[in-house]
Amino acid sequence: MSLKMQLMLSYGLMAFFLVISLLVISNVMLEHHFKVYVQQRQEQANQALVAMILDEFKEEGTPSLEFLERLGTDALKQGIVLMVKDNKNEEMYCESCMNRIGCEEMHTKMKQMMQSRYPNWEGKYTEKVYELKWKNTIYGSVVLGYYGPFFFHEEDLQFMNLVNVIFILVAFIVLILAIAMGIFLAERIAQPLHYVMDRTKALEQQQYEGRIEFVSNTKELDELIGSVNTLADALEKQQQIKHRMARDYAHEFRTPLTALQSNLEAMIDGIFEPTKERLESCLFEILRLSRMAGQINRLVEIENNHVFIQKEWFDLKELLVQTVSNFEQEWREKNLQVKVKASRCEILADRDKMSQVVINLLSNAIKYTKAGGTISIKAKEVGYSIHVIVEDTGEGIAKEEIPNIFEYLYRTDDSRTRETGGSGIGLAVVKSIVTAHGGKIEVESELGKGSRFLVVLPKK
Ligand code: ADP
Repeated sequence: MSLKMQLMLSYGLMAFFLVISLLVISNVMLEHHFKVYVQQRQEQANQALVAMILDEFKEEGTPSLEFLERLGTDALKQGIVLMVKDNKNEEMYCESCMNRIGCEEMHTKMKQMMQSRYPNWEGKYTEKVYELKWKNTIYGSVVLGYYGPFFFHEEDLQFMNLVNVIFILVAFIVLILAIAMGIFLAERIAQPLHYVMDRTKALEQQQYEGRIEFVSNTKELDELIGSVNTLADALEKQQQIKHRMARDYAHEFRTPLTALQSNLEAMIDGIFEPTKERLESCLFEILRLSRMAGQINRLVEIENNHVFIQKEWFDLKELLVQTVSNFEQEWREKNLQVKVKASRCEILADRDKMSQVVINLLSNAIKYTKAGGTISIKAKEVGYSIHVIVEDTGEGIAKEEIPNIFEYLYRTDDSRTRETGGSGIGLAVVKSIVTAHGGKIEVESELGKGSRFLVVLPKK
């Protein structure tokens, strides 16, 4: 069953049960209170009638037959049969004796009226006696007969029926509103879900382009749409990386491998002498390719988020000092001066990945700084961040190259021609790790003067 149908049904059913229970409860309550009210009203009418007769007794001694006839006729219209007796219990006026047919007609009408509302109505003729007494004088008594235990007038029944019609009308309106509400809500939920379904089906078929632009204004649904869009972004990015890597790596590996192949073939065929330099050059190239393969692997892992960042608290200064000492042989060989200037910098980060960042930046600085140059490494706390600066007095980077150096496989022309053994992956790895930590990397450089890499990392 569709979501729309389910919501419509549940809303409709809920409203139906609600309305029915309200209808039953209010009807029962109303009926009960109305019966009590009708009985009280009847009693008041009786008392008023008796009071009028008593007044007449008090004023006239004996009420005239004309007066009693008028009262009797009026009372009969109200469904009351009047009988007045004097103090000797002699009948002075008897409506049922004088107007038997009228009384019977009235009773039949009452019975029919009551049975129209209560089919099992079992009323019977009831008489109530009221004494006509004033101070210590008893003038007689009034007997009021009616169809009891209570009866409704025509207006009462009209009122009760009207109330019922209003209840049914309200019930109907509520039911329609509930179903409309169900349809409206279902539309609101179903529409974005359809978008999500279409998009995920497209993703399943590896169609990554296109995002859901719809805004549902429902928090959870918007989050779901956001997640699907993010998923599409990630999948599209991965697909692009996959394609780019396959293309670029094939190219990057092919050139040196072809050179190696032709060199080795030439040596085997005796065209080239297998001199120490030639063999060393081949070895250098093989080592470079092998390093590159290792770096590619790391980059792929980072870019595909397969590597989890495992954060721990550690002192960054200690890491810097240790890395510099690990590279001591290399910078001493090149006659470089390396200075570490840092205070204790506690940071919550992945120690191994941070070590990779420092290694890549330091090895670049060593690689691209001429003998006699200086490299300085600094670390300091700035607010909630830690700044790591790797500065060298090396050859620098041309302004137009700066935006590209963090792209993987990007090497400046200089670096390519001079065969520094670079792979163009080091800075891409640095950027990926720093970004994964929520940080950023910036570079300032001037050709011939040197470069300054600034890594800003959140302290935790
Ligand atoms: P590579 O392995 O070629 O060094 P990187 O990604 O580490 O690859 O660096 C990309 C390019 O940025 C390098 O080819 C080099 O031209 C330039 N570069 C990086 N660091 C420095 C630096 N400290 N001084 C000058 N150029 C640098």
